[in-house]
Amino acid sequence: MTRKSVYLFEEGRADMRMLLGGKGANLAEMTVIGLPVPPGFTITTEVCREYQQTKTLSPEVLAQIDEALAKLEQKMGKKFGDSTNPLLVSVRSGAPVSMPGMMDTILNLGLNDETVEALAKATGNERFAWDAYRRFIQMFSNVVLGIPLSNFESILEEHKHRHGFTQDIELQAEHFKQIVPEYKAVVEKFTGKPFPMDPREQLMAAIHAVFRSWDNPRAQVYRKVNKVPDTLGTAVNVQAMAFGNMGEDSATGVCFTRNPNTGEKEFYGEYLPNAQGEDVVAGIRTPYPIAHLKETMPAVYEQLYNMCELLESHYKDMQDIEFTVERGKLYMLQCRNGKRTPIASIKIAVDLVKEGKITKDEAILRVEPDKVVNILHPAIDPKAKLDILATGLAASPGAASGIAVFDPDRAVALAGEGKKVIMVRPETSPDDIHGMVVSQGILTSRGGMTSHAAIVSRGMGKPCVVGCEAIKIDLEARLFTVNGRTIKEGDVISIDGATGNVMAGEVPVVDPELSPEFRTLLEWADEIKTLGVRANADTPKDAALAREFGATGIGLCRTEHMFGQGGYHPERMAVAREMILAETKEERLAALEKLRVMQREDFYEIFKAMNPYPVTIRLLDPPLHEFLPDEEDLAIEVALLREKGASGEELKAKEELLRKVRALSEMNPMLGFRGCRLGMIYPEIYEMQVRAIFEAAAQCNKEGMNVEPEVMHPLVGIVTEIAFLKDLTDRVAKEVMEEYGVTFKYMVGTMIEVPRAAVTADEIAEYAQFFSFGTNDLTQTTFGFSRDDAEGKFLRQYVDQKILPENPFVSIDRRGVGRVVEIACELGRKTRPDIKLGVCGEHGGDPASIEFFHNVGLTYVSCSPYRVPVARLAAAQAAAKARGAKAGAGTV
Ligand code: ADP
Ligand code: MG
Ligand code: MG
Repeated sequence: MTRKSVYLFEEGRADMRMLLGGKGANLAEMTVIGLPVPPGFTITTEVCREYQQTKTLSPEVLAQIDEALAKLEQKMGKKFGDSTNPLLVSVRSGAPVSMPGMMDTILNLGLNDETVEALAKATGNERFAWDAYRRFIQMFSNVVLGIPLSNFESILEEHKHRHGFTQDIELQAEHFKQIVPEYKAVVEKFTGKPFPMDPREQLMAAIHAVFRSWDNPRAQVYRKVNKVPDTLGTAVNVQAMAFGNMGEDSATGVCFTRNPNTGEKEFYGEYLPNAQGEDVVAGIRTPYPIAHLKETMPAVYEQLYNMCELLESHYKDMQDIEFTVERGKLYMLQCRNGKRTPIASIKIAVDLVKEGKITKDEAILRVEPDKVVNILHPAIDPKAKLDILATGLAASPGAASGIAVFDPDRAVALAGEGKKVIMVRPETSPDDIHGMVVSQGILTSRGGMTSHAAIVSRGMGKPCVVGCEAIKIDLEARLFTVNGRTIKEGDVISIDGATGNVMAGEVPVVDPELSPEFRTLLEWADEIKTLGVRANADTPKDAALAREFGATGIGLCRTEHMFGQGGYHPERMAVAREMILAETKEERLAALEKLRVMQREDFYEIFKAMNPYPVTIRLLDPPLHEFLPDEEDLAIEVALLREKGASGEELKAKEELLRKVRALSEMNPMLGFRGCRLGMIYPEIYEMQVRAIFEAAAQCNKEGMNVEPEVMHPLVGIVTEIAFLKDLTDRVAKEVMEEYGVTFKYMVGTMIEVPRAAVTADEIAEYAQFFSFGTNDLTQTTFGFSRDDAEGKFLRQYVDQKILPENPFVSIDRRGVGRVVEIACELGRKTRPDIKLGVCGEHGGDPASIEFFHNVGLTYVSCSPYRVPVARLAAAQAAAKARGAKAGAGTV
């Protein structure tokens, strides 16, 4: 039996999206549940996959297409190419996941010099028929034949100009009749062949074009950015036309069952009377809000509203619906789970649970953790004085500042130089995606809430303002003018996607608040997840923020900032230098003594801020030269002093410093004298830190808190190291408890960041009560990559060329580094079954990595405070998925 490659709409279902694509599967579902969908059929994604190899359609597929077409003709009572009652169709692409960037839809296919006359006669509307014809030639020529649209637009403009018209709508049948031959001449000029008149030939060319478009550069970029597998393929939908452009009793529009920006339960959308297809989305005319339809076509509005409600209940999710009204009759042309802002996704998920439509597990899986990050980021300070240039439509929330850039390639180039850019365009198209990806925000002068820029930005979770008509963009000159002011490429502007404001200069921002719905969702996440979520926090302020975001402990408190690293405490840097430059052990101890007092204070405050949650403190990790001045700067200083004939003492001090800096300099600091190696060679440094930790803990416990510090030794690779350091830690603990007259629990553990530690984890676990995977270093040491060099030199190419599926510093390399983690867990548990296992590298905040850590059975992940809600959600998703929950039927 031959494989079924073509499905009539009534033969499919929503759960066949892998085979029929999202659009095809949902058209089928709507047909089956009895909604008014113009009939049609879908050619499967399997055919697309085959096409990528063979570049042709097999005879079996062709036969099935002809058969489906015949059935369609029968159903419609019309015939393809018929000179009295011609069938017209649309050809629409549709992959299993929604994918802008592929072939644009072709409408009105089947028109030619003969059928256009028949259509005019059959409808009694000559203008409509000829307008449809010229649109068809234009779309087909552009999409299938690759002829730039400007060739057609200029002809249209020329005719309008000739008659003194400003709008397309003013053109009449007689004008289109003159325009069509000119269009056809363009085609002949470009292709050397006349425009195809045979509808079947048109159809085949269009089907080929859809399959070809799967591999066009736009689609490839989109798939890469959105991690869509190249092997999915697209389906092709062939559907009888419904005409929204047959007069004032016809219309076309887009609507949502809830507000896609806020998630509010309200009927939301836009439509245009007497218009076709993409007119609404393309932003050619400014559409009316959907509420307006209630006045112009009350019966249609009522029917549409009811169908939308029905679809939402059916799919149990907010729906994005395309419809067309042909002479008062409503047709449904598409439905899908609507794209929404992160804020809306949370509100909708929580509301749907409250309405009894979905479970908590499902709600958790509905919200993308990565996108949630955006709403946790700062918004414009309400007290700030703003230099508002103009206001457009608030299309995607969040505030962003950056330099204005007017084309996507420039955006990529400037962002590559480390600049923050705001992309400013009249409107965007799939050709602009790469520019949008690198931009902080997007600003357009045209288009509505359902324009390309708005939809794509919301999907990316980027701030976006659209339809800001006050700005006049000059793409050639790379500038825009607004109210007599000029903003050139490179000038800093800001946009606020929550209000639609566009401002000159950079704007001050404030931290966001968690919405009540978000708190609810995170509470559910905490009920569902089994993985603990801690934060990486070095200061009491960070600790407080981490708690606010729901962290239940600190998984990594770095102590180097307390030594003055990073410029937080310049006065401490001086003491740290004293310690490093000390000639004698006494001098060193004196400096350490000063540091101990300072660190004790820091630890005390952090314990207090986090009480009663656990705090893991990592002892000094970076190489000592990081606390000293830069060698080159110092050498220049010394040379200048010599030249000036500075006093012997001043010069001598600098020379001495330079000598020391040179002595400490390393070929490869990442693999050098750092981590516990410092504590092994200079035990007094670690002893001082351990003492400061325990003294602070003793103080807290005396005051009635219950603090159980976790002392973490970094970069251990040899059991002897941890044996020595455990002993040191225990000894100091004992001394401090005696001195303070209190006892308290504490733990001694190690980071696992070199493969040797992982493969000898059974030995190490004899001494270490916990492991914390430092996955940044572990990735470096497992791959033998130095991160900066790798990311700067070749990692991007590795990912582009698919040598690696992903940057392993962003998402854990499960096969390699992940395996090392697993080995360490297995060996560690063998020695110490109750060993505590955590992660404190950046992967602790990456949803895909978190899923892996859940599956390995770690105790907790630790990440930056802003990532804590993301991690809670991702941990809950991992738990929900592990017990078989799905996001729900038909989920995008
Ligand atoms: P996209 O994937 O870009 O949304 P669509 O295939 O949905 O592309 O089509 C683009 C536009 O054409 C939409 O507005 C859609 O509603 C309209 N359209 C597609 N097929 C038909 C049809 N058979 N009759 C009327 N309008 C159609
Ligand atoms: Mg499109
Ligand atoms: Mg569509």
